[in-house]
Amino acid sequence: MILVFVGPPGSGKGTQAKKLSASKGWPQLSTGDMLRAAISAKSTLGVKAKGFMDRGELVPDQLVIDLISERIDQPDCQKGFILDGFPRTIPQAEALDRVLHSKNKKVDQVIAFSMLDQELVRRLSGRRVCTVCGSMYHLEFGPTPGASCPANPARECQLEQRSDDYPDVIEKRLKVYHSQTEPLVSYYKTQHKLESVNAAHSPDQVEADVQTILKKK
Ligand code: AMP
Repeated sequence: MILVFVGPPGSGKGTQAKKLSASKGWPQLSTGDMLRAAISAKSTLGVKAKGFMDRGELVPDQLVIDLISERIDQPDCQKGFILDGFPRTIPQAEALDRVLHSKNKKVDQVIAFSMLDQELVRRLSGRRVCTVCGSMYHLEFGPTPGASCPANPARECQLEQRSDDYPDVIEKRLKVYHSQTEPLVSYYKTQHKLESVNAAHSPDQVEADVQTILKKK
């Protein structure tokens, strides 16, 4: 099963991709996580991507297309995978179709996560991440960190706000989403691959809705 999650930043697609990955065994391929890892490692890719990400812009298509093309050749992807945050533009979607076609594969299902901008801003601005274990927390909605960090039980989680979760950058990311990523909804609708979930519902409800969609396949 090759599954694509499309949705604005903060709509919970990463959380749902993690849950589904754990239950089905399909790896979650998040280009955002891969790019942040490249930045931490100070690799050539990370150096190229950092400025775009800090400004809330998309990194150039070819960088992420190359990243994903290499990743999906790995053995753990052979039974399927979940694309979380890729594709984000029509050229990326077209490139993905071409790459998969050359391997006799195709995107099987696309799930669009829909939510109003106002709610997304609330979710993104309260988001905090532990710099040690990577766990995500939220000031308003939880989860809140426990007494000790899963990666370093001697200490509490070390919380930080992602640099692209500051208000001006959030506004930019949402604009970029509407202009460059939202057209994918029509792209995949035309291919008869699109189903939508109301991402404003509780995470458990969204998870159930995703499962219902997948059962129909
Ligand atoms: P995310 O964690 O998915 O919200 O991604 C964080 C940032 O990484 C985005 O704001 C972009 O700068 C960059 N990024 C992630 N995925 C892509 C993609 N498919 N195309 C271009 N830029 C991306």
